[in-house]
Amino acid sequence: MTLNIGVIGVGMIGQDHVRRLTQVLAGARVAAVTDVDLDRAKSVAAGLPQQAQVHQSGQELIASDDVDAVLVASSGPTHEEYVLACIEAGKQVFCEKPLATTREACERIIDAEVAAGRRLTMVGFMRRYDDGYRGMREVVASGDIGTPLVFHSAHRNPSVPDAVTSAGMVVDTCVHDVDTARFLLGTEVAAVQVAKPRRSSRAAEHLQDPLVLLLEMTDGALVTVEAAVNIGYGYDIRGEIVGESGTVALAESNRIVVKRDGGFGGRVPADWRERFVRAYDVELQAWVDAAAGGASTGPSAWDGYAATVVCDAGVEALESGRRIEVTLRERPGLYGVD
Ligand code: NAP
Repeated sequence: MTLNIGVIGVGMIGQDHVRRLTQVLAGARVAAVTDVDLDRAKSVAAGLPQQAQVHQSGQELIASDDVDAVLVASSGPTHEEYVLACIEAGKQVFCEKPLATTREACERIIDAEVAAGRRLTMVGFMRRYDDGYRGMREVVASGDIGTPLVFHSAHRNPSVPDAVTSAGMVVDTCVHDVDTARFLLGTEVAAVQVAKPRRSSRAAEHLQDPLVLLLEMTDGALVTVEAAVNIGYGYDIRGEIVGESGTVALAESNRIVVKRDGGFGGRVPADWRERFVRAYDVELQAWVDAAAGGASTGPSAWDGYAATVVCDAGVEALESGRRIEVTLRERPGLYGVD
């Protein structure tokens, strides 16, 4: 069976997912697209190998009988409306992060899924499909390094546009590290603090770059998240878990090592697309395969909710300088345990 997918929002990552669905993955076709910029939607549709319907709105696309499942890649504040409409229509939806931009909006999505009695939403936390992080999780689960005590995560971008804010670094950048911490350690975040190191001279005047989050997990493990978004040398994602009797860390992501002139080196990825290209492919294929069978998989609405609540606490901690406790509602049985 070929899954007919409707894509809402064909900006940067929406177009990348369209390419992926069309050229890389199996079992799916892009049957419909829409964007608030209809000319952009038309131009994306025109580039597809098979005819795709261009809808006037996301709601029209979701309601269309030609669409089996929906991929939402519009800007964050629009996600809630589309995800709720998909749940109402009983259609599987892959929603790029964030699930929604406020705790209340995420809770409305959880309430809708609970009322529907089934999960229909997968959130685009692609790091869960990265070979490195999956390997780290397996090592933790095996018990080989003992109980995890500390997870160090670093998220370094070569540069960011001037429009990026310090709060945006927490919400848009660190959100991946927050989800990774929950995924690797299998517990929730209980409290957040933010430390402000000496500012990089490469950062825009208004930006606190780098910044360091300290996450306290519910079982007492600690997580440090270093976000440095003008690091210059490349896109560098680091991760190390310190256990009671050993450690596990992400290896360098290059596949070769060059030795010359008494030294050795390798490539640092240029950006997130290069670093996580395989993770995005595996992530979306997993969604397509599950959705084709009417099932859901991967990061859930609960995971999207938890990440949004933690990042909101992170912004409050950044702005107030205080330690902010994280309170999550009771986890509905629908979402089980990781
Ligand atoms: P983008 O380039 O701005 O693309 C978003 C597209 O959605 C634009 O074409 C925008 O049109 C359109 N849009 C805005 N409001 C809409 C609406 N109500 N209905 C339909 N389309 C609408 O942004 P992006 O970088 O692709 O990011 C899109 C989403 O993906 C964001 O939530 C972002 O956080 C997420 N993302 C995730 C990752 C990841 O690593 N998982 C990476 C990148 C992005 P206009 O430009 O005219 O507003």
